[in-house]
Amino acid sequence: MAKKVFIGVGHGGSDPGAVANGFEEADLNLAIALACREELERHGVLTLMSRTKDENDPLTEEIKECNAFAPDLAIDVHNNAGGGDGIEVFHSINGGIGKALANNIITEVKKIGQNSRGAKTRKNSSGKDYFGFIRQTNAPAVLIECAFVDNKTDIQIIDTKAEQKAMGVAIAKGVLTTLGIAYKAQEATGKAENTDGKYYRAQAFAGSKEGAEEMAKKLKEAGFDAFVSHY
Ligand SMILES: [Zn+2]
Repeated sequence: MAKKVFIGVGHGGSDPGAVANGFEEADLNLAIALACREELERHGVLTLMSRTKDENDPLTEEIKECNAFAPDLAIDVHNNAGGGDGIEVFHSINGGIGKALANNIITEVKKIGQNSRGAKTRKNSSGKDYFGFIRQTNAPAVLIECAFVDNKTDIQIIDTKAEQKAMGVAIAKGVLTTLGIAYKAQEATGKAENTDGKYYRAQAFAGSKEGAEEMAKKLKEAGFDAFVSHY
């Protein structure tokens, strides 16, 4: 049976979430979540998102939708404020699959160059999980704070569309690992049947090592295989 993943998208509509440096958290959350969904669906995972556009999306509704969907895993996509630096992923104080999911997501997000503040738990005054999304959902659930919107350096990890997509793909990879689904690399578009026995490649030129590395990074973000060589 196909695996199911619920994707909560933090804030939206009249609630923009964290606002700083020309960004609204609600928009960043949506762009990252949409890329994550696309990647999960490419691997045959059934998904449900709490919202797919900019609209009001109260947490109580999110939790209801999630439990009605009865997913194998649930993630809630957010971005942070408060001037820190790096991703942090909250999971239940009960550990288990949610904790593994948090760590798998962090492993993948570090590969795109983001720092990590670690997998964390947070308790409320009654000693239960602080976050409703983690406490009130039935599936193993995590709340992801990808980057700090109000940190000029940290926001640079997701300040372009391509980087928001890369973040969503990295989160999807962590989810797939947790589900035991092997990641399939995206094939370069335009790849066709090899009919003449020759192999072809596109080359991008850059003068400096840094320029070439930047190009390779952009190609990888766009889903192509790329490497840097010198001559
Ligand atoms: Zn938030």
